Amino acid sequence: MRELLLQHPTFSMAVRQFDLVADILQLTPTIRERCKWPKRMLSISVPVTMESGETKIFMGYRVQHHCSIGPTKGGLRYHPDVDLGEVAALAMWMSWKCALAGLPYGGAKGGITCDPLTLTQHELERITRRYTQEMIPFIGTHVDVIGPDMGTNAQTMAWMMDTYSTHAGSAVPSIVTGKPVILGGSQGRLEATGRGVSFLIGRAMDYLKMSAENSTAIIQGFGNVGAVAATGLTKFQGKVIGVSDATGAIFHARGLDIAALRKHVETTRSIQGFPGGENIDPRELMIQPCDVLIPAALSRAIDADLAAKIKCRILAEGANGPTTPEADAILEKREDVFVLPDILCNSGGVIVSYFEWVQGLQNFFWTETEVFDKLYRILDQSFSQILKLARERQTSHRMAALMLGIQRVAEAKQLRGLFP
Ligand code: NAD
Repeated sequence: MRELLLQHPTFSMAVRQFDLVADILQLTPTIRERCKWPKRMLSISVPVTMESGETKIFMGYRVQHHCSIGPTKGGLRYHPDVDLGEVAALAMWMSWKCALAGLPYGGAKGGITCDPLTLTQHELERITRRYTQEMIPFIGTHVDVIGPDMGTNAQTMAWMMDTYSTHAGSAVPSIVTGKPVILGGSQGRLEATGRGVSFLIGRAMDYLKMSAENSTAIIQGFGNVGAVAATGLTKFQGKVIGVSDATGAIFHARGLDIAALRKHVETTRSIQGFPGGENIDPRELMIQPCDVLIPAALSRAIDADLAAKIKCRILAEGANGPTTPEADAILEKREDVFVLPDILCNSGGVIVSYFEWVQGLQNFFWTETEVFDKLYRILDQSFSQILKLARERQTSHRMAALMLGIQRVAEAKQLRGLFP
């Protein structure tokens, strides 16, 4: 029954990765099962009155993967393909990501099956408020803390906080992270994931003795993560030569003007029609020669076919689960591609979300410099630990990152034992 409910290619992929690592770590059958399956899975109907006056029922989900270390933590995704199995996979990856960074959280993820591009602000607000209201019995500042993900942003978090706080009778900012600074958000949270991605690319370049100046990058997805990472690379005189989004892809061999492209996307919600680049087939874009390739959109974007054809030196996984296990098997043999695996590469978001949660609980706020100093220290430590373990165990960076995360969760469960 559980397998049937969670049937989804992304969940199968997360389980395959987990099983491989559980074998290497020689987890006992009990710990293995306890680490694998989500603790709670919620599926709800979200009835909403649309601008047209008709009532539409959206499907909403929240999966809390494990609660052995602290509250669960994870984003909320608005996308037409959102499904329980996908959300469960993302929740599981969040568990390993939080453990890798040493955060006192289990993983969670939520989502609503909808297309935010076709919804008005009023409709998005009603959907968000109704989803939050349905979730009230299952979330809390010490139970499950929500943040933004694909299709959601600081405004979504502000509506969630307001709905939850209205119910509680006083302001409860720490129920969400990624909220606007004026409502108790953290300095730097908006840019944290993308800045973490560009910081780690810098670390990888240092390690590989590459020069950032005039390096070339291609980015799939030009939202929060992709656009901020692009800006980060241009600050070090790198060139972003290609970008894609849900509407298409553009290319310019001498480099796109990223500041101008961000302004264009802010006003038109799409990269289409940007005068500084030529249109290109989105899949073709992924196989153009470049120093850095950043998938920063959907899961399973790099399949076996692409893995054999990509021509980058660094693959920086901004998205969650962008590389299929079949693609991984190919990349493991390709010594020319240095992989920054997703649970490391995009962990800047949840790390600064953790900082936001801590600041909110203490009502004591940090400067942007303090936030980024602390973030880079954690990322640097994880980067070094992964490289060391990969070398010692003769394994890929992904396997090493997952081994560190899964081992910590397994150890916590072992130490806590089983009640009753
Ligand atoms: P976002 O909604 O801000 O942007 C998503 C971008 O992807 C948009 O430009 C969209 O047009 C594009 N896109 C959608 N479908 C596409 C397709 N088929 N081909 C190319 N582009 C496509 O989302 P985001 O917050 O930037 O998240 C992007 C990825 O990063 C997701 O996988 C998310 O889970 C992951 N992530 C986000 C955060 C965060 O803090 N926002 C943290 C960790 C991981």
